[in-house]
Amino acid sequence: MIRFRPHHFLCALGFQGKGYSDKFTANMAEIVDRLRGPGGENVMLHVTHQADAICGPCPHKRGVGCVKDTQITGLDNRHATILGLSDGECLTWNEAQARIRAQVMPGDLTSLCAGCAWLDLGLCEDALARLHADST
Ligand code: SF4
Repeated sequence: MIRFRPHHFLCALGFQGKGYSDKFTANMAEIVDRLRGPGGENVMLHVTHQADAICGPCPHKRGVGCVKDTQITGLDNRHATILGLSDGECLTWNEAQARIRAQVMPGDLTSLCAGCAWLDLGLCEDALARLHADST
C-alpha cells in the first residue's frame, strides 16, 4: 500500500526523473519503478489529501503539509474531482490508470495541472498520449 495524494497519480504516470532535490527524485523514482515494474499494476494506492509517499523527502514538506499548500490544494482538488478519488479510498495502479484514460483527455493537463513546474516540459502530456494510444 502506497499513500498517494490526488495529483500524484498523474505525476507518477509522467515522471521522467525530474524533482525538487536529489533525495526527492531518488524516492520518487523508486516508487514509480515499483508501479512500472512487474506486478506494478496490482500495487494498492491509498488516497490522502496530506503529505504522501512521494512528498516524504521533499524540501517543501512541512509535517503533513506543504509550503505550497495554496497551490497544492487546488491541484489535489482538481485531480480528485476528475478522477473521482475520495480521501481514504484504495485502488490499484491499474484501476488508477483506467480512470486517467477514461477521464483525462490529451490537452487536459494545461488546466488540470496549472502551476506545475514541469508542465511546460510536455513529459506528462506525452505519457498521457501513450496511455491513450496503448488502449486502442
Ligand atoms: S511540493 Fe508539496 S505536494 Fe509536492 S511533493 Fe513537495 S511536499 Fe509534496
